[in-house]
Amino acid sequence: MSILIQNGTLICPQGPVQADLRVEGDKIVQLGPNLPVGDSRVLNAAGKLVFPGFIDTHTHFEMNKGTVRETADNWATGTRAALAGGTTCVLDFAEPGRGCSLQSALDEWHRRADGHASCHYGFHMTIKDWDPRILDELPRMTAQGVTSYKVYLAYANIRVSDGVAYEALKAVGAEGGVIGCHCENGDLIDRAIAELRDAGRLSPASHPLSHTPAMEAEAVTRWLALAEQAGAPVNVVHLSTARGLEAARAARARGQKVYLETCPQYLTLTEENYQLPGFEGAKYVCAPPLRPRSDVDALWAAVERGEIDTVGTDHCSFNFHPTKELGRDDFSAIPGGIPGTEHRSALMYTYGVKSGRITPHQMMRLLAEQPARLFGMFPQKGALAVGSDADIVIFDPDSTWRITAETQYQNVDYTPYEGMEMAGRADTVLLSGETAVESGRVVLENRGRYVSRGPAQFWR
Ligand SMILES: [Zn+2]
Repeated sequence: MSILIQNGTLICPQGPVQADLRVEGDKIVQLGPNLPVGDSRVLNAAGKLVFPGFIDTHTHFEMNKGTVRETADNWATGTRAALAGGTTCVLDFAEPGRGCSLQSALDEWHRRADGHASCHYGFHMTIKDWDPRILDELPRMTAQGVTSYKVYLAYANIRVSDGVAYEALKAVGAEGGVIGCHCENGDLIDRAIAELRDAGRLSPASHPLSHTPAMEAEAVTRWLALAEQAGAPVNVVHLSTARGLEAARAARARGQKVYLETCPQYLTLTEENYQLPGFEGAKYVCAPPLRPRSDVDALWAAVERGEIDTVGTDHCSFNFHPTKELGRDDFSAIPGGIPGTEHRSALMYTYGVKSGRITPHQMMRLLAEQPARLFGMFPQKGALAVGSDADIVIFDPDSTWRITAETQYQNVDYTPYEGMEMAGRADTVLLSGETAVESGRVVLENRGRYVSRGPAQFWR
């Protein structure tokens, strides 16, 4: 089966090119002007942007499985929603139980995802415990295509000590992988929550007060010091503040390899949402929290200057009724997380490209090329190039539409972007050479495959 994408603006690694692109089977086989049609099926992309399939570097599907705090999106619904937004590959976080092996988590995440995913997928591995058995498992993870890890400096049930973070940085670095870190100071979060509770301040408005910019900045600084000492490149996930960004800049100026991820919510929403009447603010409770406009502006400036490497969503959806409501009487019991994997490309196009902040080429690098490089998939994924996988998005830059929970694929009863006017959307998506989305509607399900990844490819 051969497909010819005609007359589009191809967003290639070197920049935009006005050309045609031919897909044969699951690969891109030809790029160039005026390619002969032959027996290919033609997709007319005139006036459209053609991107390599987008990669969401940060999802949590089917998290807290089997508990009252289970996420609303499972692997079937989450990956279908991702696909609708032009995301052809997600990287989700496998998380071992306390005292359990990495392999047990990898097996469990395969059980949940295999055969249920509508886009391709890989797994980051969360490190909670550290002992010689875990250390021994790292080469076996590499052999199974897991080359990226995560540690938390916050949350009592999952955070690691500085010593463990340091050991893990050294060991993962030696494997050619990369570790991302949730950078917030866990002790200070716990103290702030206790103080706010004692003061009877129990509404969602207290949430940002328990996750301050200082808590992020301290943890980013510490994480980068640990990385410096370990001599390892590092990733900072979901960066949300100007102060965290300054810490990363300082480390880069000293010559450290520091990679930064931020999320659409930190680029498009502000902390004023926590002041909404009633319990409405709960819809925006995530960690780190939404920030003041000044942080949003600082992050955009960093995106424009190429200081941010990836934009992942941290998609972690909880239904408002009844899951977010678990925290109606105490903000600290509100499950933290918001949905977004479906809307990332439209948000980045609307607020980034359409508003003139970034070019389509920069958007491509943030959503496809750099995720593929950092997480060991380039140029198999993340590039429109001969020989690359035929995961392709034909993006309509003129489509105007409104985000609503009513019409979303995400299996959750709200969206934090409700009512926002979008200027552009993924129109047609090819997944491994098969038409998976047509006119923004998913037409192919359950074709997602596990992506066995190689070592990180550092470019800084
Ligand atoms: Zn996350």
